[in-house]
Amino acid sequence: MRRASKFFQLLFIAIAFYACKSQKQLTSQSINQQKADSIALAEKFGEIDSSTFMVDKELEVKVDSAAIKDSLESLAKLFEKDTLLIIGVGDIMMGTNFPKVDYLPPNKGRNLLDGVRNELKSADLTFGNHEGVILNDGGEQKECRNPDVCYLFRSPEYIAQNLVDAGFDVVSLANNHAGDFGDTGRVNTMRVLDSLGIHYGGLLMKPYASFEIDGTTYGFAAFSPNSGTQSIIEIKAAKEIISHLDSLNDIVIVSFHGGAEGKDHQHVTKETETYYGENRGNVYRFSHELIDAGADIIFGHGPHVTRAVEVYKKRFIAYSLGNFCTYARFNLKGPNGVAPIVKVYTNQNGEFLKGTIIPVKQIGSGIPVVDEEKVVIRYVRELTEADFPESEIIIDDEGNINYIQSEI
Ligand SMILES: [Zn+2]
Repeated sequence: MRRASKFFQLLFIAIAFYACKSQKQLTSQSINQQKADSIALAEKFGEIDSSTFMVDKELEVKVDSAAIKDSLESLAKLFEKDTLLIIGVGDIMMGTNFPKVDYLPPNKGRNLLDGVRNELKSADLTFGNHEGVILNDGGEQKECRNPDVCYLFRSPEYIAQNLVDAGFDVVSLANNHAGDFGDTGRVNTMRVLDSLGIHYGGLLMKPYASFEIDGTTYGFAAFSPNSGTQSIIEIKAAKEIISHLDSLNDIVIVSFHGGAEGKDHQHVTKETETYYGENRGNVYRFSHELIDAGADIIFGHGPHVTRAVEVYKKRFIAYSLGNFCTYARFNLKGPNGVAPIVKVYTNQNGEFLKGTIIPVKQIGSGIPVVDEEKVVIRYVRELTEADFPESEIIIDDEGNINYIQSEI
């Protein structure tokens, strides 16, 4: 499907190229003719001003050259750009003005991502889970069943600019905080992201998105067990969305917010997980079935700790990307305070080629910086060896995820 459309794109460029070229020849010929005629006419009247024609001719050639250069560059890009770099990170909450403004970072959060900005901006596409609502004030506060474990996140609108400045292209809104301030919060979050050109999905109001970046088309959908979001439990409906996105796009990226939380739940059980009496999904079955339906990359999060990674049917799955940039209101102790930036390299079909884990730790109230001790690389390696010994990947000390494909 997409290869066919690329073929027609190439064909179009080729036709445009030759049309340009022949137009240039015609234009040059007619200019020469016009010039000769005019000079002859001017000589007849004793006035020769050939410079005018020279300028016209040069201008004409210049315009044609630019068009041809553009066509050739696009053509070269399509042939050369066979590897995509897609980055995923976990939970992002850059400060909340609820219940008080003390939970907001200094300088409007502009420096929060300074330590990781270059890495985040290095990709063709960068994804993160936006945990909370973008809303300056008001909204319908969610009622908490258990006040001990209930936090509401309302980030002021100015903070969202930091996502743009760090290179984020798409975020998930399927999580347990997207409904913290009711529909007012949901609608405003979408409005602000729209205004910034950041794609999103996961809400029942907008479960998925299709968009294009640098000539590659992406489908994105996000899922969670939480009300108001596209369900991680209803796998059949999820697969229908993925099949639809797969029919339209080159690469399909799935985000899920699922699984039990905390340091006691770092392993992928391959069974349905419950936490605080809530069904948090069977993230293993969900991921595999969605890849069967056409998903290319799966970025999981929600447990607040990092979990294993896996390659299934040549497609990459990260089962939990942990707390990435979670300011002021999060437990950042031990495994909760480290997280990966996962760099996934794929071909244009979304097949996994290799990966890299950039190890990050949060310092202060929740500021991600590159972790020189590389703690999270060890976590991911040990968890992957324990939970997916059959997976054909080897993670080295530097965080390289090497794919050891068996002969088929
Ligand atoms: Zn969450």
